[in-house]
Amino acid sequence: MPAFICTACGTQYPPSETPPPACPICAEERQYVPPGGQTWTTLESLAARSFNAWREHEPGLLGIGTQPSFAIGQRAILIRTPHGNVLWDCIAMLDAATVSQIGALGGLAAIAISHPHFYTTMAEWSRAFGDVPIHLHAADRAWVMRPTPAVQFWDGETLALLPDVTLIRCGGHFPGAACLHWAKGAGGKGVLCSADTATVTVDRKFLSFMRSYPNLIPLSAKQVRGIGAALAPFAYDTIYGHYFDRVIRTGAKQAMQVSVERYAAALGGLYEDGR
Ligand SMILES: [Zn+2]
Ligand SMILES: [Zn+2]
Repeated sequence: MPAFICTACGTQYPPSETPPPACPICAEERQYVPPGGQTWTTLESLAARSFNAWREHEPGLLGIGTQPSFAIGQRAILIRTPHGNVLWDCIAMLDAATVSQIGALGGLAAIAISHPHFYTTMAEWSRAFGDVPIHLHAADRAWVMRPTPAVQFWDGETLALLPDVTLIRCGGHFPGAACLHWAKGAGGKGVLCSADTATVTVDRKFLSFMRSYPNLIPLSAKQVRGIGAALAPFAYDTIYGHYFDRVIRTGAKQAMQVSVERYAAALGGLYEDGR
């Protein structure tokens, strides 16, 4: 039986004769059901009409994204460390070429995913690399649509995944929304992978924060300050957002601090025109 994948968000469901009646991820206010209705595909169909493209963002950090873009269009990140490789976030498309290439780079030690919009085909990725653990924050447990024994829920505010790699729970977009910190990245100055938890803006100078990006539902000042506080103890110079081109190459820690204050100030009336 096929394991159907929602074409709007990339979430895969357990094998079934017919597609699921709905996609709970898309039906919820943080995502959306396309005007033409929910449609479905399979990994086989996806692999027949697309491929995964790679970009080496910096030594030891590679982006992996599907061409043409599929569903939300995010790219995953492969971080290579002496203690093993980590896949940060996930994409729906997984084909033989991707398995071969990651295998040639040493395979995966762990998968970690920022939030439910990127859970996608995580069960397939885990299985393809020897049932590697998938680390998800326990606060988002209810959004796992295809359960697998590989999922390991972590609780609390941080998880030391590998000696130089830490998951940081920030909340906001989802209660368990997380970022990944790689201490050895950016030439030792540190890297933050911010996903949808803090999105790199189009000018690549700031970050923004939303409950729903497609439906433009903001967070509160308290939530955004909470994200800033969660990240404050960590040193980093570069931020990788969730698209290939959303990168703040340098000065990213200051950009985060300024962005948190800008957002809170906007909610507090900074840009009101006096009418
Ligand atoms: Zn969906
Ligand atoms: Zn999201």
